[in-house]
Amino acid sequence: MNIIKFEDLPISDEIKRSVAELGFEEPSPIQSQSIPVILTGKDVIGQAQTGTGKTAAFSIPVLEMVDPNNKNVQAVVLCPTRELAIQVSSEMRKLGKYKSGIKTLPVYGGQPIDRQIKSLKSGVQVVIGTPGRVIDHINRRTLKMDEVKMLVLDEADEMLDMGFREDIELILEQTPSERQTTFFSATMSKEILELTKKYQDDPQLIKIVRKELTVPNIKQYYIETRRANKLEVLCRLIDVYNPKLSVVFCNTKRGSDELVSELQARGYFADALHGDLKQTQRDIVMDKFRQGTIDILVATDVAARGIDVDDVEMVFNYDLPQDEEYYVHRIGRTGRAGREGISFSFVFGKEIRKMKDIERYTKCKLVRHNIPTIADVEEKKVTAFFKEVKDVIKDSNLSKQTQWIENLCEEEGLEAIEVAAALVKIALGDEEKQEIVEETSSYKEESGRRRRDRGDRKRGKNAEAGMVRLFINVGKNQRIQAKDIVGAIAGEAGIPGKLVGTIDIYDKYTFVEVPKENAKKVLDKMKNIKIKGNKINIEKANQRRK
Ligand code: ADP
Ligand code: MG
Repeated sequence: MNIIKFEDLPISDEIKRSVAELGFEEPSPIQSQSIPVILTGKDVIGQAQTGTGKTAAFSIPVLEMVDPNNKNVQAVVLCPTRELAIQVSSEMRKLGKYKSGIKTLPVYGGQPIDRQIKSLKSGVQVVIGTPGRVIDHINRRTLKMDEVKMLVLDEADEMLDMGFREDIELILEQTPSERQTTFFSATMSKEILELTKKYQDDPQLIKIVRKELTVPNIKQYYIETRRANKLEVLCRLIDVYNPKLSVVFCNTKRGSDELVSELQARGYFADALHGDLKQTQRDIVMDKFRQGTIDILVATDVAARGIDVDDVEMVFNYDLPQDEEYYVHRIGRTGRAGREGISFSFVFGKEIRKMKDIERYTKCKLVRHNIPTIADVEEKKVTAFFKEVKDVIKDSNLSKQTQWIENLCEEEGLEAIEVAAALVKIALGDEEKQEIVEETSSYKEESGRRRRDRGDRKRGKNAEAGMVRLFINVGKNQRIQAKDIVGAIAGEAGIPGKLVGTIDIYDKYTFVEVPKENAKKVLDKMKNIKIKGNKINIEKANQRRK
């Protein structure tokens, strides 16, 4: 079965028309494989990575199977967050544009319930909601589940991660048992499989495996280095390997601008390429890079799409990418046109875990590389210099210079070797440099301790009901106080301070509880912020990846 056109799918003309209007040229794999199966009424587990069109994969069958003449709720879609509920609802409305008589409604916490009740009463066939609010409506009897024939769990992994399991089970139990149940998820976990066993009837697993990732001729290294040393490490690597062209990736525009200034201050020919630049500015930077006027391009992921230069010998992940796919995309800037490439990724502390995710995704191991020592850099410089010296000896007439040296030695009572040494010193300089001391082992211990701490907390002190416990990597050492945390959550995520739960501040990190419904928003909004001048890292305290 290899359907590749919407035309070939067993769907109505109304849907074909809206899909064409949305600009979908062909169904994505999860769509072409799930839609026909869901339309037969079978339970389905659809697994495909983020951004592969899972929404339409379940929305199209829902729209096809709902009876427009029946004004009762016939399908319920559960989503982890209010944003997703709105998004799914909006996509479903677009897809159902030419299906007359079908009404969809998003319901979620935070919106006045009266308005939702009024809308529900007006006759809605598809409800898209967050678990909490759906239960609320069930309890108020404003959402009647007895005619629901389809139940969809969208982003099932996210929902379980956010602690919605009980709520989901409650809803499943309130739905007629003859219903069709479909789960959609980017990842599959034990918990999802447990739910599947309990609530689905002989489900068909439709799993879309990612394209094989091939990065054959790129040597991938990682270097453990803390943020403060990254610049020095980068410069040493460039000095030692002396790549013709290299691309350095940063996660933020500001970060890339700062790095460019620092590199320029050290005398490197570097420039930035990021999304804030106008197209003409980007073209100028790219031209300079192609011509070698600059040999270091500092880029963000967005801007990197336009990098199509064959001579890039090295890629640096100055910041580890947020997403595994970005990693592949980034390092793919080198090793092009059959050439060999090298990539270096800078990691530290808990980023190692992120790196493991990348390794799993790319099915490649990153090889540890030591920070080049000052001796390495010097050796490299000296070797290059002596090569030049040898070439000069070979290719030119040095009789005049030889005479000068002879005279000098004679007059001052010096040895020729002393003079040569002094000349090398003048040519190469001899700065007193500090070796970089990375306290790798002690840091490992520390992150181990942290993991234990978190483990203990997971077992001992669970988040209160309805709350999610988040981990932030700043604490007493950064003079963090509860008000800083509350302030940041209120300011960045717009969550009223009174909704923020328990805050536990330790030396190096902090745990804070926020309402489940808000967890995703807090995580999203606080991803790239600073608290008391410290760039923070925030994540769910209950680690998700298995
Ligand atoms: P997922 O839920 O798998 O993460 P989404 O359903 O949110 O992915 O889809 C991601 C994006 O792809 C959306 O903008 C959606 O409109 C778009 N999209 C979905 N299906 C197609 C298609 N067949 N062709 C092109 N774009 C599509
Ligand atoms: Mg989705």
